[in-house]
Amino acid sequence: MNNYKPINKTMDLYCLTDKNKYEVNIPQGSGEFYSTCPICSQNRKPQNQKKKCLSWNRNKELGHCHHCDADFVKYRELESQSDNSHKLPPPKLKSQPQTPKTIHTLSSIYASSSLNIESNFGKYLKKHFTKEEIDEVMKLYFLGRTRNKEVIYWYIDINSFFRSGKIIDYNPNTGLRVKDNGMMGKPDVKWVHTILKNQNNLPEDWTFSRCLFGEHLLKNNPKSTVMLVEGEKTAIIGSIKMPNCIWLATGGKGMFTEEECKCLRGRNVIIFPDLGATKEWSEKAEEISKAVGCKMVINDVLEKVATEDQREKGLDIADFLMQQKASETKKENTKTKKEFAQTKS
Ligand SMILES: [Zn+2]
Repeated sequence: MNNYKPINKTMDLYCLTDKNKYEVNIPQGSGEFYSTCPICSQNRKPQNQKKKCLSWNRNKELGHCHHCDADFVKYRELESQSDNSHKLPPPKLKSQPQTPKTIHTLSSIYASSSLNIESNFGKYLKKHFTKEEIDEVMKLYFLGRTRNKEVIYWYIDINSFFRSGKIIDYNPNTGLRVKDNGMMGKPDVKWVHTILKNQNNLPEDWTFSRCLFGEHLLKNNPKSTVMLVEGEKTAIIGSIKMPNCIWLATGGKGMFTEEECKCLRGRNVIIFPDLGATKEWSEKAEEISKAVGCKMVINDVLEKVATEDQREKGLDIADFLMQQKASETKKENTKTKKEFAQTKS
């Protein structure tokens, strides 16, 4: 793959988004290089046509346009795709060049007027943590409350815009989610934007763009290790127990995607899959980390320590951390910390 020596400064890039080849002026060297985008720049407003929206990482040989979201790899490598394909990010299914996606957001007034720790989830936290610990986590994640005492998890993006809020109810004693329909029903989840739309408080064409829960914390903590989990509750409890890391949640099993993880570029990420999901998340992590340009390590401590009973209940790392707290045995705490320390090194 190193037999490609550019005579001049142009390089052939392959766009994973529209599957076309483009010639771009990229001088040799290392690190990030910024250029105009071969796909969207010529179609932008005259005053923006010279903006360097394409960033090309010369070490990773990966590029991304921050305006049209197109992803690029070096064209050469793709010619022998049969034996090199494993080195490339997965091709995307999008066939057309994308028009810049409009991100709809909500006024922060909805969030600020909802801030309240007296939700059923807040009551559960109060049983286990100090006021200082809860105040701190509330400030970090903007925990809100509905009139029915459900918690509102605000989804705030890396630019501090409120995308929406996820509404969940918990049993204040057990911290378990309340099912909508007796024991057989699924846990009830509502979204603030859906409610606002039903009340005609949002335009018809308002659409929700997902982000990672807690993503807004990345900006002010550029060096911190990121702990990525599935559930918001897990992120909250993790953040109280291990406040030196940034705890983010995908908000669901299927939500661990490249699109949502773009904000993790350049980060050290430790992933705690729920029990039984380790294989699936490991495979995804390998793809996503390459595509996004970050380091992802899977922590499978749960798979190692869980009993049959815990496996059946689908124990997650929050339950595990809570149980560690409940047991209060110094020995086990030391063991947990050791397990975590091993992942980090
Ligand atoms: Zn572009």
